[in-house]
Amino acid sequence: MSNLSYANGGNGAWQTFLAQVDRVAPYLSEDLADYVDTLKRPKRALIVDVPIIMDDGSIQHFEGYRVQHNLSRGPGKGGIRYHPDVELNEVMALAAWMTIKTAVLNLPFGGAKGGVRVDPRKLSARELERLTRRFTSEIAHIIGPQKDIPAPDVGTNPNVMGWMMDTYSSGQGYTVTGVVTGKPVHLGGSLGRVKATGRGVYITGCQVAEKLSLNIENAKVSIQGFGNVGSEAANLFYLSNAKIVCIQDHTGTIFNASGIELNALHAYIEQYQGVAGFEGAERIDNEAFWDVETDIIIPAALEGQITVARAHRLKAKMVLEGANGPTYPEADDILNERGIMIVPDVICNAGGVTVSYFEWVQDMASYFWSEAEINDRLDKLMVQAVEDVWTCANSNGCTLRTAAYILACERILKARKERGIFPG
Ligand code: GLU
Repeated sequence: MSNLSYANGGNGAWQTFLAQVDRVAPYLSEDLADYVDTLKRPKRALIVDVPIIMDDGSIQHFEGYRVQHNLSRGPGKGGIRYHPDVELNEVMALAAWMTIKTAVLNLPFGGAKGGVRVDPRKLSARELERLTRRFTSEIAHIIGPQKDIPAPDVGTNPNVMGWMMDTYSSGQGYTVTGVVTGKPVHLGGSLGRVKATGRGVYITGCQVAEKLSLNIENAKVSIQGFGNVGSEAANLFYLSNAKIVCIQDHTGTIFNASGIELNALHAYIEQYQGVAGFEGAERIDNEAFWDVETDIIIPAALEGQITVARAHRLKAKMVLEGANGPTYPEADDILNERGIMIVPDVICNAGGVTVSYFEWVQDMASYFWSEAEINDRLDKLMVQAVEDVWTCANSNGCTLRTAAYILACERILKARKERGIFPG
């Protein structure tokens, strides 16, 4: 029986995470299984009120969060999301997935996440800056280069990170570059960070495709979400001569069976801020995205996209989880039964946090690496992580997701066990 107020019921992202933990528990050694409950409750969750003065002089209040799910392996790490649907249940799950992600990649971090329940598209640039600065000052006492290091996520970008760094630094009285990652390069950011998540999706996707003897050249690729992650993954698959047949973003869904010409699409988006209306493809219904004949499908937007019903309909051979938590546990089972390979979020989209780690290391050393060095180190770490997960899946006869959770939970819970429970 659980004594937690937030553990039971619902179909939210946190419940998805709990189901994933339950699936891995039977694979853990008995001494570690004793500690599994650690993962089912966030270490620390902060809810803050973020009042700001709007451009018209009125005052508006927004709800903000920072959740530190687990700090057993090091400082918290994870992005800040600005989205109108942000809520505690979601931020808890996103923080928990960061715990797993940093552990699978063996980065010396725990997992955290934050967010503000706001539609950033509806704010002016000045309002966005005020919101960011107030939110940062509200969470300043629990973040820091050795405590918890935010980064961009859905709805935030390097500029927002620059404001966060500046606000935190003002409070400290000196410049603290290492408090956030994903900053603009001239403010202590890292080369290669912006493209890192999409690059990781491509690297892990190609590696698993090779194991399945799926040729990337001429492979059909469909992508949901054309932001930082989806667009860079699309670019790299396109450069490998894959056919990008379908793209969905917040404006609609476009389809072209012989492949969308990406250079023309980027030029169009520059002008119209979305894919809808692009003349080099046909507009289809949003729901039809899930029926498209494709080899690779990349959910690169929000969680909870691949439902049971959609899992039955998918035509793809491979799902690359660019987004965090896009697949419900029951849908996972269906895809698995249908022989559709999932490269799970906790490895597939880990390129971003991996280069965030490099950024943090560079900030600490005040010594910066070349982009070639960064990409080279990123590729090596990701390839190794996929190899480890693949081997673990084969030896346990389980999915790549469960294997990733086995490797991660062994590292997290071993750290928890060795640190001991205070006061003992
Ligand atoms: N928001 C990204 C993620 O979900 C990056 C986090 C980071 O760089 O800390 O992995």
